[in-house]
Amino acid sequence: MPAQAPPPLEGKKRRVAVMTSGGDAPGMNGAVRAVVRMALAKGCEAYAVYEGYEGLVQGGDMIRSMGWEDVRGWLSEGGTLIGTARCMTFRERPGRLQAAKNMVTKGIDALVICGGDGSLTGADLFRSEWPSLVEELVEKKIMTKEQVEPFRHLNIVGLVGSIDNDLAGTDATIGAYSSLGVICDAIDKLDSTASSHQRAFVIEVMGRHCGWLALMAGVASGADYVFLPEKPPSENWQEEMSKIITKHRSEGKRKTMVIVAEGAHDSNLTPVTPATVKDVLANKLKLDTRITTLGHVQRGGEACAYDRLLSTIQGAEAVNAVLESTPETPSPVICIRENKIVRESLMEAVKQTHEVAEAIAAKDFGRAMSLRDAEFAEYHSAYTITTAAKLPGLTLPEEKRMRVGLIHVGAPAGGMNAATRAAVAYCLARGHTPLALYNGFPGLVRHHGDKPLGSVREIKWLDAESWISKGGSEIGTNRGLPADEEGGLEAVAKVFEQYNLQALFVVGGFEAFTAVSQLRKGRAQYDAFKIPMTVLPATVSNNVPGTEYSLGSDTCLNSLIQYCDVMRQSASSSRRRVFVIETQGGASGYIATIAGVSIGALAVYTPEEGIDIKMLSRDIDYLRETFGKDKGMGHSGKIILRNEKASSVYTTELIADIIRAEAGGRFESRHGVPGHFQQGGKPSPMDRMRGTRFGVRSLQHIEAFAGKSKDDIANDPLSAAVIGIRGASVQFSGMEKVEAEETDWKHRRPKNEFWMAYKGLIDTLSGRPTV
Ligand code: ATP
Repeated sequence: MPAQAPPPLEGKKRRVAVMTSGGDAPGMNGAVRAVVRMALAKGCEAYAVYEGYEGLVQGGDMIRSMGWEDVRGWLSEGGTLIGTARCMTFRERPGRLQAAKNMVTKGIDALVICGGDGSLTGADLFRSEWPSLVEELVEKKIMTKEQVEPFRHLNIVGLVGSIDNDLAGTDATIGAYSSLGVICDAIDKLDSTASSHQRAFVIEVMGRHCGWLALMAGVASGADYVFLPEKPPSENWQEEMSKIITKHRSEGKRKTMVIVAEGAHDSNLTPVTPATVKDVLANKLKLDTRITTLGHVQRGGEACAYDRLLSTIQGAEAVNAVLESTPETPSPVICIRENKIVRESLMEAVKQTHEVAEAIAAKDFGRAMSLRDAEFAEYHSAYTITTAAKLPGLTLPEEKRMRVGLIHVGAPAGGMNAATRAAVAYCLARGHTPLALYNGFPGLVRHHGDKPLGSVREIKWLDAESWISKGGSEIGTNRGLPADEEGGLEAVAKVFEQYNLQALFVVGGFEAFTAVSQLRKGRAQYDAFKIPMTVLPATVSNNVPGTEYSLGSDTCLNSLIQYCDVMRQSASSSRRRVFVIETQGGASGYIATIAGVSIGALAVYTPEEGIDIKMLSRDIDYLRETFGKDKGMGHSGKIILRNEKASSVYTTELIADIIRAEAGGRFESRHGVPGHFQQGGKPSPMDRMRGTRFGVRSLQHIEAFAGKSKDDIANDPLSAAVIGIRGASVQFSGMEKVEAEETDWKHRRPKNEFWMAYKGLIDTLSGRPTV
C-alpha cells in the first residue's frame, strides 16, 4: 500500500534533515546544532536522522523533527548525540530504496550528512542512484507518481566529520584537531616518563589509509620517526630508522618517540606494526622500549575550539548550500582550505579520496602524496627537516650560508618556540648559523653597552630540540621596539654589524610587526638593516596585519572555551545565570568573536562595534524572553563575551550588575575575567604544527636572498615581509604595502578583519535579535 502522501512542496517550508554517520568525531554535535538552527532561522523545518544510515533505512521515529531548544548546549558535548552506526543494509540497493521511501514519506527534501570517507561515498552513491530509486518506488507501486513528484531531485550536502582527516579536498575534517589534541596530550605525558627512564615509546595512532594524525602528531611532538601509509619507508626501514634514532641519541636526546599509523606499511606494503618497530628499538638499538596503543581515547572527548568553529560555520554553510542549490548544481561537500570555507563537488572529493587508497595499493606513493592536499606534503617536508637536522644532502655551499638572527617580540604566545625550533632545525640542515637574540630588542641593545650580557648566542640543536611543546618564550620576549630603546636604531644596527647578522626572523605580535617596520624604514640610514627580514605573527589577539591567523590564537581559544565551559556548567541544572566574561584581544574582537562562535555565546561585545545602552537593553529583553521559555532544566547558563576594550564605560562588572538589576530576580548574573589564563599552558597542536611549517617557510623565504647585494635586497619589497594565511593560501606580503594599505595603526589591528562576518552567525545561532 502506498505510504501517506508527503505535503506538497509548493508554498510549504523546506525540510532539511541532518545525520551523523561512520565513526563519531568531536564536533559532530556542533554541526548538527548549526544545521538545525540555521535551517530554522532560514524558515525551513529541521529534522535529525538518528543512528546514521540505519535510521534512514528504518525511518519512522528514527527521523525526528528538531526544535531550536533541542540542540541547546550541544557545542560542548563530545561524540554524536543523534547517534551513529555502521549500516550494512544501506550498502545494498534494497536498503537505499527503503531509505529513499522514508525520506519521501517524511517530506524531506534536503539531507546534510556529516561523516567520513565511507559515509560520503554512501551519500554520493545515494545521490547518483536517486532518480532511479524514485522511479523504482513508483514502478514497484510502493509510492505513487504524485507522491514522488516533488522529490525528483535529491538535495544532498556533505560535511566531513572524521578524526582521520581522510577526505581529499579539505585541509581539515571536523574532529581531526580534537583527536590530535588527545594524541599530543598523551605524547606529552609519555615524554616525561620516557625522558626520566631514557626509554623509547612506540605509539600507535588511528588512520587506516591516512597518515594525517600520525604525521601531525609527529610534527607537533617532535617525534623521532613516523610511519605513514602514504609515504612509507623503504623495505630497509629498520636501518633508516636506526640511523636517525642513533643520531638523535648521540646528540644527547634522552628519549625516543616513534609514531605508527594504524595502516602503516613499508614500500612493499608489508605491514609495519608497533611490535615490529619495538623489536628493532629493543633488540638492535638496545633501548628500553614500550608500546602504547591509544585506541578509542582518540575519538573521545569534547571538541577543541577549532572543531567547534569549523563544525558551526560549515553546518551553517551546508544550509546555505541547500538553499542555493538547483537541480543542476552538483552535490557539494563543505571543505576548508587554510582559512577559507569552500564548496567542492562531493563526487570529485570521494573519487579523489578513493584514488589515494588505489595509489597506495599500487605502490604509487608519489601519486598518493600528490592526491593529498598540498598542506600535507608541506608538513611532511617540514617534519623531515626538523627531525633529520644536519643529515647530509641538504647543506648549501659556503657562499649561500647565512647568519640568521632569531628574535621574539611582544607578549608570549603558544607556538613561538615551535617556530623558532623549526627555524633552528632548518638553519642547521642547510648550514646557516642560527643566532638567538635573547629578550627582544631591549636584550639586544643592553648587550651593546659597556658590559656585554651575552644576549646573542648560537643555538645548538639540543637546546632547541625540546621546545616544540613548550609554552612561553624560550629565548625570552619583550615588547620593546628597536627605535624606542636607548641608543635607538643606531645601537641595534651596531649589534647587527658586530654579529654580522645576514637575516632576521622575528616572531611576535603587533610589536613584532612594528619593529620590522621600524627596521625597514631604518634601511635609509643603516646598511645593517638591508638584510632579509620576516615576521611570523604570534599573538593571542590575532591582530597582526597581513595574516588571518597568528600563532597562539588557537591555544588561547582552547583555554577560553575551557573556562567558559566550566563557568557554564556551574549554572546547569536549576540555576538561571548569565556570565559576562572578559576576553583579551586589545582593540581586536577576534578572540571574543571566535570564542563566541565556539561556545555558542548569546552575544559578543567587540571594540569594533562598541557597546551602547540600546544594545544592552535589547539583550536583557532577549534574556528575559529565553529564560522565560526555559523550564530550568539542563544548560541554563548563558554567556556574553566582552572584549577588554569593547567600551571604556560599560565594564564587564558593570554589565553583569546591570543585568542583575534588570533581571528582577528571574535570573542571576556573574562576571569572570580569565586574564592571563587565556595565554594557555602548552601550545595547541595547531599552533605547534603551524609554527613548525611557517618557521620552515620563513627560513626558505629568507634563504632566497642569500648571496644578493645589500641594495638588491633593500630594493626587493619582499625582503621585509610578513608571512600569513590569506584566505585559501599562505603568502608572504611586503611590509611596506601592508603597513600603508592594510594597517589601522591607531587601533593596532588590520583594517579588514575577515572574522567580522562571524558576528552575524553568532546572533543567528543564538537567536539574538539585532537591529
Ligand atoms: P570513519 O572515517 O570514522 O571511519 P566513515 O564514514 O568512513 O567514518 P564507514 O564505516 O566507512 O565510516 O561508513 C559509514 C557508513 O556509510 C557505512 O556503515 C555504510 O552504511 C555507509 N557506506 C560506506 N561505504 C558505502 C558504500 N560504498 N556504499 C553505500 N554505503 C556506504
